[in-house]
Amino acid sequence: MSEIAKQLALIQTRIEEACKLAHRAPHSVKLLAVSKTQPSSRIEEAFMAGQRDFGENYLQEAIDKMSNLPHLQSKIAWHLIGPLQSNKTRLAAEHFDWVQSVDRLKIAQRLSEQRPSNLPPLNICVQINISQELSKSGASVQEALDLCLAIANLPNLCLRGLMSIPEPGSGASPHQAMHALFIKIQKTLHEARLGQEFDTLSLGMSDDLELAIAQGSTMVRIGTAIFGARPKIK
Ligand SMILES: *Cc1c(COP(=O)(O)O)cnc(C)c1O
Repeated sequence: MSEIAKQLALIQTRIEEACKLAHRAPHSVKLLAVSKTQPSSRIEEAFMAGQRDFGENYLQEAIDKMSNLPHLQSKIAWHLIGPLQSNKTRLAAEHFDWVQSVDRLKIAQRLSEQRPSNLPPLNICVQINISQELSKSGASVQEALDLCLAIANLPNLCLRGLMSIPEPGSGASPHQAMHALFIKIQKTLHEARLGQEFDTLSLGMSDDLELAIAQGSTMVRIGTAIFGARPKIK
């Protein structure tokens, strides 16, 4: 078994244990492998171990890696989880299956306009700045509902849910707040007969995955605990 396969199995065990403690079904949480700064060979190693969803932060780095892995392109779901500038939306719309870092309507509108017509709708999560950190991107809790309603009406997108990166060490309260917001928006969307696919709360990383699962996360984004410490580059 490769080192990455071992780490993936350990993470799956952590996810299952956390689900059990929270009285949730073991497969109610999806594992996103965050492969930023990792070479394509390690992505392939994770793929060989059964991993299918990968998260990347930097557009050009991700696209370079995709082009190194043409034989896996149709089998991997690529998620953009890093900040997206409006002049880069076309590349994101053309290359990714998910963009989890949408924090304003203008970005969503551009992604919808630029999504190639031969591809399925682009899956979208709205990123929320739950810890209200000035340095972090993300929509505020106050603007989240209107933003989701507007995105749910765009043609070439599929609004899937919310994503957040709580400030490390801030306990369970940001996770609780994210879950409450997720449920509120899901209910409002359903009442408006929108957002049929709004099923994703993308919350939890290597250090807080148990906390996030206890609070209802449906997708954890794990980098370090799978691939080890990231090489310091750039
Ligand atoms: C890097 C990153 C992760 C993974 O963090 P780890 O602590 O390495 O698990 C998850 N989500 C986002 C948005 C990231 O940028």
